[in-house]
Amino acid sequence: MMQLRFATTLSAQQYVRQQAWKDARLDSCPLHPKGGCGFARHGTYPRKSPPDIKIPRWYCRKARQTFSLLPDFLASRLSGTLIEVEDVINKVENSPSQEAAAQNMRIDTEFAGVLRWIRRRLFLVRCALSLLTELLPFLPAGCSISSFRSTLGGKYVLPQLRIQASCYLHMLPPPLGFGPRPVAKKLKKSRFQHQTGTDPPVKRL
Ligand SMILES: [Zn+2]
Repeated sequence: MMQLRFATTLSAQQYVRQQAWKDARLDSCPLHPKGGCGFARHGTYPRKSPPDIKIPRWYCRKARQTFSLLPDFLASRLSGTLIEVEDVINKVENSPSQEAAAQNMRIDTEFAGVLRWIRRRLFLVRCALSLLTELLPFLPAGCSISSFRSTLGGKYVLPQLRIQASCYLHMLPPPLGFGPRPVAKKLKKSRFQHQTGTDPPVKRL
């Protein structure tokens, strides 16, 4: 499934209340803009969080590919909203350690699971921020939420970046972008190595 941006200023609550997935439009197939490929609306699919949310979906018969339009407030390939992800990262940045931040978070899960849950978010968001500092020269060099907040202003930066970096979403990792997940080991070795095509091919727009 290929994810695309559903540009909207609605909050998660407004989107659900208005059932705004019904208003989503994708007039032509992203792969075959001239048509003739049997491109059509393909219903919706639910996500666990926020409750009652639905994501609109399309299908290209020729490419056997589904497309979904992800509203701007939503995290890609992680549960919940970008604001919820940012709250987690911000809590870690303002805690003496990841372990301290993990206290009182997600009491439904064992402690080691909470730590993994936190680290996955930290790793992915920091990858996205560090890529963005190279793509957009006005951004700060440090890849922390707090340095981005002081540069961009506003309470939350991840929802702003979804919009401001919209032309790079295909290469940014989730939960901010719609690109592939980075591989931890390779990224540590060298980013250049990462770029030379050791990843499996990913369909890009
Ligand atoms: Zn098509």
